[in-house]
Amino acid sequence: MYIGHFAVGLAVKEANPSLPAWPIILGVCILDLVDGIFLIMNLDHVIPNLSAGPYLFFDLVFIDWDHSLLMAIFWSVLWGGVFAFWSKKLALVAGLSVFSHFLIDLPVHNHDMALYPFAEYHLGFSLWKSWGTWAWIAEGIFSLILIWFSWIRSVGRGKSFFGPFFLMLAMFIVVSPWFSPMKWAANMSSPNDQIVLGIIFICGFLIPAWLFVRHYSKS
Ligand SMILES: [Zn+2]
Repeated sequence: MYIGHFAVGLAVKEANPSLPAWPIILGVCILDLVDGIFLIMNLDHVIPNLSAGPYLFFDLVFIDWDHSLLMAIFWSVLWGGVFAFWSKKLALVAGLSVFSHFLIDLPVHNHDMALYPFAEYHLGFSLWKSWGTWAWIAEGIFSLILIWFSWIRSVGRGKSFFGPFFLMLAMFIVVSPWFSPMKWAANMSSPNDQIVLGIIFICGFLIPAWLFVRHYSKS
């Protein structure tokens, strides 16, 4: 998932308007940020597959250090723990934001999410593989429902939601079967393909996260 993660982050923030945005918005990105760093460090492994839809164009061969169930719990507890001295509620919401990433990745991932690092048993209901472009559309509908919730909450507090909405729309179009920058990385030779994918993951999550947090820092 891509915009689906941010849709959850925005909805969680809107449901908890008193909490700071960045632990939540960055929280939903953590697993893919770690994935990006580990791809560059060659701790995670991916193989280009131009028929792997709808916008990924890679097979995620080994992503156990960030997208296995055990490591998702580990990163959730670690991220939540950072805020434990701030407030218990923030620690819980930030930790659950990280775990939401794992939960909504489950339906789409192509059976590449291990139970724990190097485990043989893998999770993932493979909607990316079986639905193709429709999985991208389903992610859009899922996100739209959450954006609708966030929009109503935001307007209820007297704050426009146009900015986040148009940013999400732009991200949905860029990370689509037709324009995905990951296709460009998949056409590179090894090891550049994996390194560039890692950089795309990091930029693709950090830049929107920064813009969403900026939206909430302006009152
Ligand atoms: Zn992910």
